[in-house]
Amino acid sequence: MAVIRPVLWRTIERKLKGFNGNKAPLIAGHKLLYRCNLECKMCPFWRRKDEQLLTVEEEVKMMESMKRAGVSFLGFEGGEPLLRNDVQDILAESHKRFHTSMVTNGWLLKNKLKSIEDYLDYMFVSIDGIGSLHDKMRGVSGSFDKAIEGVKAARGHISLSLSSTITEENYFQAKDLVLLAEKLGVGVNFQIAYNYSTAEKESPGMDKLKEAVQTLALMKEKGYKIVNSKEYFQAVTNSWFNGNGWKCKPWLTMNVDPLGNLVMPCYVLNEYNGSSKVWDVDIVKVWNNYNWEEYESCNKCALSCYLEPSLFTWKNPSMIKERIIDGLMDYVRVEASTA
Ligand code: SF4
Ligand code: SF4
Repeated sequence: MAVIRPVLWRTIERKLKGFNGNKAPLIAGHKLLYRCNLECKMCPFWRRKDEQLLTVEEEVKMMESMKRAGVSFLGFEGGEPLLRNDVQDILAESHKRFHTSMVTNGWLLKNKLKSIEDYLDYMFVSIDGIGSLHDKMRGVSGSFDKAIEGVKAARGHISLSLSSTITEENYFQAKDLVLLAEKLGVGVNFQIAYNYSTAEKESPGMDKLKEAVQTLALMKEKGYKIVNSKEYFQAVTNSWFNGNGWKCKPWLTMNVDPLGNLVMPCYVLNEYNGSSKVWDVDIVKVWNNYNWEEYESCNKCALSCYLEPSLFTWKNPSMIKERIIDGLMDYVRVEASTA
C-alpha cells in the first residue's frame, strides 16, 4: 500500500488539473440495477424497470474502458447492488482495477458480508432517520434494524460510513444521525436534499434546510466524524443562501447506467443517455467534445459525489488531510484489524 498510495496521489493530482488541458473522468459511478427491496419516496430509481442487465463479462468490458479513460475510483450503486447474485464476482473484478466502493441499504449486508468484504475499499450504508422514521422514509418496516445489523456486522471488516439524505421529513434528526454514527463507531456522509423531479415535494423549505446545514457544519467543527468536508457545508450555504455559487465539474465523475450506457452530464440532469455501450465509445473523445462549461454554474444539487471533487484543491491543507490522509488512516486501521 505504501507503494500504491503515492502513485494514486500523483494520478489524482494530474487528473484534477486535467491532462494537457484535456478533461478526463477520475471517478466512476455505476448503477448495477434499478431494482430495490425498499421503496423510498424520494428515490426515482426503484420505480424504473430493469431491462437486460450487463453480464459479468460485460461489466469487465465496461471496467476496461473506464480504465483506459483514466478512472481510478469505481463506486457501485443502484437500486440495491446486493440484490444481484453475482455482485461478488463484479466487485472482485473491480477491486483488481480500481479503488472500489458501494452504496447499500444494508438489508442484505450481514448475509452477504463474507462474499464481498475482500473486494471493497469503502462502503456507505444508507440510513435517513432513527428507527420508525427511517422505516417510514424507506417504505418498508424493519429496514432500520436490518441496516444497523448490517453496519454492526461489517464495521471492522470494511471501512464504512452511514450515508444520510436530508429532506423535509428528517432535517430535525440531522444531529441524531451524527450521534447514531458515533454510537456505532463509524462516520456519516450527508447529501443535502437535491432537485430530482420526483423529490421536489420532499425538498425541505429553505429555513429548515439551512438549520440542518448549520447544525452539521457546527458538529463538523466540533470534531464529530462527518465525512463531508467543512468546505462542502460552506459551498452549500454560499450557493443556496448567499447567492455565491460553486463551480461544478461533473466531468470528474462518470456515470454508467445498468445497461452500460453513459449518463451525462451527471445522473441528476441525465440529459444525454447514449444508446452505445460504454466500451464501444471513445470516452476521451466524448469527454472533450461535450459542452461541460454549460453546467459549471448549475448548483442544482448538493450531491457530495459531484460537489466534493469539484471543490477539491491541493492548495488547501485541511482538504488534503481530510480527503486523503484521514481516508488512508481509516483504510490502514481496517487492514490492520482484519490482518
Ligand atoms: S434504498 Fe436506495 S435505491 Fe432503494 S429505494 Fe431507497 S434510495 Fe432508492
Ligand atoms: S450541480 Fe453539477 S452534478 Fe449537480 S445537477 Fe448540476 S451539473 Fe449535475
